Amino acid sequence: MKIADKNTKAVDLVRAALEKAKEYEDYHAFISMNEAHALERAREIDAKIERGEPVGRLAGVPYALKDNFSSPQGHTTAAAKMLEDYPSPITATAVAKIEAEGAIMIGRTNLDAYAHGGSTENSYFGPTSNAYDKERVAGGSSGGSAVAVALDIVPFALGSDTGGSIRQPASFNGVVGVKPTYGTVSRYGVVAMASSTDTMGCFAKNVEDANLVMGIMAGRDEKDSTTLADFWTKDLTEATPKQKKIALIKDFMGDGVDPEVKAAVNDYAGKLKKAGYTIEEIDMPILKYALAIYYIVVPAEVSSNLSRYDGIRYGLRSSEAKDLDSVYNMTRDEGFMPENKRRILIGNFVLSSGFFDAYYLKAQKARTLLIDAYNKAFEKYDALLCPVAPRPAFKIGENTADPLQMYLEDVMTVPPSLAGLPAMSIPVAKSKAGLPIGAQLVGPRQSDQILLNIAASVEDK
Ligand code: GLN
Repeated sequence: MKIADKNTKAVDLVRAALEKAKEYEDYHAFISMNEAHALERAREIDAKIERGEPVGRLAGVPYALKDNFSSPQGHTTAAAKMLEDYPSPITATAVAKIEAEGAIMIGRTNLDAYAHGGSTENSYFGPTSNAYDKERVAGGSSGGSAVAVALDIVPFALGSDTGGSIRQPASFNGVVGVKPTYGTVSRYGVVAMASSTDTMGCFAKNVEDANLVMGIMAGRDEKDSTTLADFWTKDLTEATPKQKKIALIKDFMGDGVDPEVKAAVNDYAGKLKKAGYTIEEIDMPILKYALAIYYIVVPAEVSSNLSRYDGIRYGLRSSEAKDLDSVYNMTRDEGFMPENKRRILIGNFVLSSGFFDAYYLKAQKARTLLIDAYNKAFEKYDALLCPVAPRPAFKIGENTADPLQMYLEDVMTVPPSLAGLPAMSIPVAKSKAGLPIGAQLVGPRQSDQILLNIAASVEDK
């Protein structure tokens, strides 16, 4: 990516990004723009360069921010009416770190409200279009960020991934998407979805840029007790796979998967083979339970995390409310999208005293078995390979009447999330209809850079 220096003005980089964003306004990748502030920051950086003062590793680089990351600039809406007018008093740690290196946020990107979804159609502000076909979904929940990078508006964008929200839109729009090991990047200041699987990552055009951005965001943060000590090394070449062995997950290459997706992933496996990797196949039957586990555990955490929106502490308060109960009820009724409410209902159900053992507890036990299965696989393999999604981007509106069908689209991305594993989406092919197809690499905890290294070794430049 282009970084500002004596010959490249930050103001020019930012202006070009803002102009492009305007040109592609009809894709609806952004919820709000940060024009005045972005240009002011760019001028400051140019002045520093002029004076010969040191500037950061991302000096003057324009970026797009998923609108569930807190920043004092504008409103942090999480694409929900509940937070439509909410000015955040805090800055997410990931944002603070990126901006300390000189990156400049040009706008906030669209998502499914509270990141609940896989298409960006659940946004209170309306859907984002796919970068390759306006009639199709951007994927989600970080659809706006993926499209902003795919359309070359910005070289990188931040996203969150709880069950696929970076990987799937990256795949649908033909860009690199990195979901790190759970705990790599601080969750502080990011609107919570499911605290045990929420991770912060990025979209970029290539592996090198993604590695740079992730390395800056990674690291221990005292404001998030689940963060890991920094394990990200600067030099990607140091992160070499030990056994050079990768397994293709057979369970995700079956009948339900689009033949073009299977062919793309098989071709990618062939490329890796040529580059010196041994490719084998693996059966992981436990994976068929992952979606069921996810849609119990995640709504449970969602219902808890969304209880803070009571019409008193954050954002919206219904103007119709007359007493305490109606402040709660009417605010939550007006402020949440149907998908948010669905998850609150499921979450409260699986946590309720009569059903806790049968659903929540059982799901957590099954989750442990899933983690065990991954651990066993990683005794033999550096990484696992599979598609990101069963098919390329679907049509806008195609799944909206059927929430279960929408959940099924997540079948390949939720398993690594439940196990806290790093996973990335690599653009590997285009369908006959011209839609991007991604391949997914999954590795053991903290092997993030090994995955990036594997991808880099066969990347088309
Ligand atoms: N599509 C998944 C869901 O709806 C993942 C969302 C996410 O990662 N934020 O839960």
